[in-house]
Amino acid sequence: MRILVVEDERKVANALREGLEGERYDVLVERTGEGAFFRITTEPFDAMLLDLTLPGRDGLEILKAMRARGITTPVLVLTARDTLQDRVIGLDAGADDYLVKPFAFTELLARLRALVRRGQSGQATQLAIGDLEMHLITREVTRGGQRVDLTVREFELLEYLLSHQGQVVSRETLARDVWKETARTAPLDNVIDVHIARLRRKVDTDQAAKLIHTVRGVGFVLREGEP
Ligand code: CA
Repeated sequence: MRILVVEDERKVANALREGLEGERYDVLVERTGEGAFFRITTEPFDAMLLDLTLPGRDGLEILKAMRARGITTPVLVLTARDTLQDRVIGLDAGADDYLVKPFAFTELLARLRALVRRGQSGQATQLAIGDLEMHLITREVTRGGQRVDLTVREFELLEYLLSHQGQVVSRETLARDVWKETARTAPLDNVIDVHIARLRRKVDTDQAAKLIHTVRGVGFVLREGEP
């Protein structure tokens, strides 16, 4: 995990570097806004810790500029300015999270972990709900540690439901996004229903907690507990 730390106060920057390296993060420190902007636009990072008050271009400027360029690296803003106003400004500018100084290092680590996880979900290698896990690279699916064998289409369907877990997806949406059919037809609806039934058999049979639910007249939802 490679983290860009943007902090002009040497003491704080060093403490962050030491702490994060102790957690086996790969850390690069930039002390100016210009340096940070150059770095984030030329190298890949898993997350960025960004102080707002910097010499030259401040943190918010950097944040806006990088987001305007389409850089989606998760950003945790660190600042002493703890007013609601600043928080709103930071989030509007494209920050993913916000931590007010002084903060406990354990809190920073927890937020950073959550942020990195979220960042990776954009190009996730794993999806999960409850004890159902899908590994997108190995294309392996397990429930409660037991392997679930799926056809290619079942895998795609489950991947779609996992990526949209908690949301009710209609047959129309599945036809478009999984079957890549622009027009919804009655035969295709049947095909979708058959695949859902098979998927349900493979994923939910003999399980106390059902994950695939039908929402009558609307579609399907992958959710823990009742739909
Ligand atoms: Ca500062």
